[in-house]
Amino acid sequence: MLRHTRLLWAWLKRAIRAEWQGPADLPSSLTMEWRLIAARWVGILVVGPALPLLNLPLDHLAGAYAILVFATAYNVTIRLWMQRRPDLFASGYATTVCDSLLNIAMVCIGGGFSSPFSYILFTVTISVAMRYGYGPSTAMTLLFIAGEGVEKILARQAPDAAFAFRSGFLVITTLLASYLRSLTIKAEVALHDRLQELQRLYADLAVAHQELLSLDEAKTSFLANVSHELRTPLTSIRAFSEILLSYNDDESVQREFLEIITAESERLTRLVNDVLDVTKIESGQMDWRDERIDLVALVDQCTRTFTPLVDHAGLDFRLEVPSCLPPITGDADRLQQVIHNLLNNAMKFTSDGTIALRVAELADWIHIAVSDTGVGIAPGDQQRVFDKFQQVGDTLTGKPKGTGLGLTICRDIIAYHGGQLMLESQPGQGSTFTIVLPIARTERLAA
Ligand code: ADP
Repeated sequence: MLRHTRLLWAWLKRAIRAEWQGPADLPSSLTMEWRLIAARWVGILVVGPALPLLNLPLDHLAGAYAILVFATAYNVTIRLWMQRRPDLFASGYATTVCDSLLNIAMVCIGGGFSSPFSYILFTVTISVAMRYGYGPSTAMTLLFIAGEGVEKILARQAPDAAFAFRSGFLVITTLLASYLRSLTIKAEVALHDRLQELQRLYADLAVAHQELLSLDEAKTSFLANVSHELRTPLTSIRAFSEILLSYNDDESVQREFLEIITAESERLTRLVNDVLDVTKIESGQMDWRDERIDLVALVDQCTRTFTPLVDHAGLDFRLEVPSCLPPITGDADRLQQVIHNLLNNAMKFTSDGTIALRVAELADWIHIAVSDTGVGIAPGDQQRVFDKFQQVGDTLTGKPKGTGLGLTICRDIIAYHGGQLMLESQPGQGSTFTIVLPIARTERLAA
């Protein structure tokens, strides 16, 4: 028995909840209208059994039950049609007119418009005004006034001050409630806009936060790398200096140690210079000296210092530079630094064959390509070589001489000039690094 009662109670709760929420596909603007159906059922169920207790004259009692029957039929009809044709109810006029007639009938049965029962009309008008605004609520008010007018005509009474006051206050109440509704809607729209803006700002903030986190991470790993790279030459300088201090017999060994110390000091200086270059460029503190550059002369200067080194290494050097190139604008020292770095790398990673430097003008771009026939770079490493401290290739034969920052600096310098540094390479066959510089941008800088 208890179990059945519990089951019945659970079912009842589910049914009431489902009835209150309405069908899933009901437009949200009709939610309130749907809930009024439930409210009408409660009214009908409460008023129906209570009517005989009101000591109404028989004809009034019959009238009241007739209204309840009409209200029941009306509620069933609305419930069916609101699901089938929600568009009919969207404006609110359909239910407003029917509710008005129902209320007029209730007032008539309850004692007429001059009875206290007519206060119900204010409540109903406010509720319609808050739901649908000026149109339907004004229509309802006019129906109520007309209802009272007809009552007066049927009773052969002249319109009195009470009628005028009631009608006037009904109109004022309607207008005020409708105005309040319009203010509420405006506030709601403003709140919605503000909420959307806040959501947008929050999303931007989340992106900025993520960027800051990754920047912080990059900085930490950069510092760790720098410290690691600094420690290696410092350790050998210190170790050899200490040995040297206690070792004064063989001069040739002393010299060998001093040479190691000098080489390590040079490596240290290179590293510090490279770190300074990277941090200055990436923090926007680099002191760029932009000027008009004669590219033919710049390349000539690079090759003059480079040719003896290539000869010494027993490599061929091929140079292809047009006799005339459009002048470009940029930092000549920095561009020279890039070409030097690429030529040095080419030499470092080529044991025999050819190193070539080719310059060409293609549409609005100047292409400066440094190629070699050296070890080449595996496809999986070609992106990585531009990252800080990345030295790729055969790690078994030891780390190549260098800091792993050269290509990062080259890429940043070329990016400052509005260009790109590209790489094509085949392992075992060689690499080509191509600097692409826009002529238009450099001319603009010069203007
Ligand atoms: P590093 O100063 O150590 O040379 P870079 O940034 O200039 O640093 O170069 C990074 C890495 O890219 C090198 O250690 C090497 O592994 C690879 N690399 C650069 N240039 C070449 C090249 N011409 N041929 C083969 N590998 C190269």
